[in-house]
Amino acid sequence: MAYDPNNIFAKILRGEIPCNKAYEDEYALAFHDITPQAPVHVLVIPKGEYVSFDDFSSSAPAAEVVGFYRAVQKVAAQLGLQPGGYRALSNVGRDAHQVVRHYHLHLFAGCDLGRMVKKGLAPDG
Ligand code: 5GP
Repeated sequence: MAYDPNNIFAKILRGEIPCNKAYEDEYALAFHDITPQAPVHVLVIPKGEYVSFDDFSSSAPAAEVVGFYRAVQKVAAQLGLQPGGYRALSNVGRDAHQVVRHYHLHLFAGCDLGRMVKKGLAPDG
């Protein structure tokens, strides 16, 4: 799927739409999700144009990949997430219900986050 430069996160990156920023460096921008699903729900996005985790992992130059994941760790550290732990999650495509087509990593924290996926999806139930 081609990257759409008018997706909502591209507009946030260009400053056309405001966000509640948590962190920024040359590789990544982190901001609080507009509809939080946990006490802490932050989105970390790369500055480059990548549709998904799949696209980023296969196409981004190594320096961007390393820079991005180092930034994710800095976000977690700056928000003080390590003592209790956190979940880093990325939805890719239809089955995962990806809505915004600019790669983003969700960071959830601040409570017991429960199961990783909906109950009953495993082949053995
Ligand atoms: P996805 O389902 O694509 O993995 O998640 C997209 C996320 O982006 C959702 O959690 C949604 O609440 C968040 N989101 C969508 N539009 C905006 C926005 O304009 N600002 C912020 N901060 N979050 C947004």
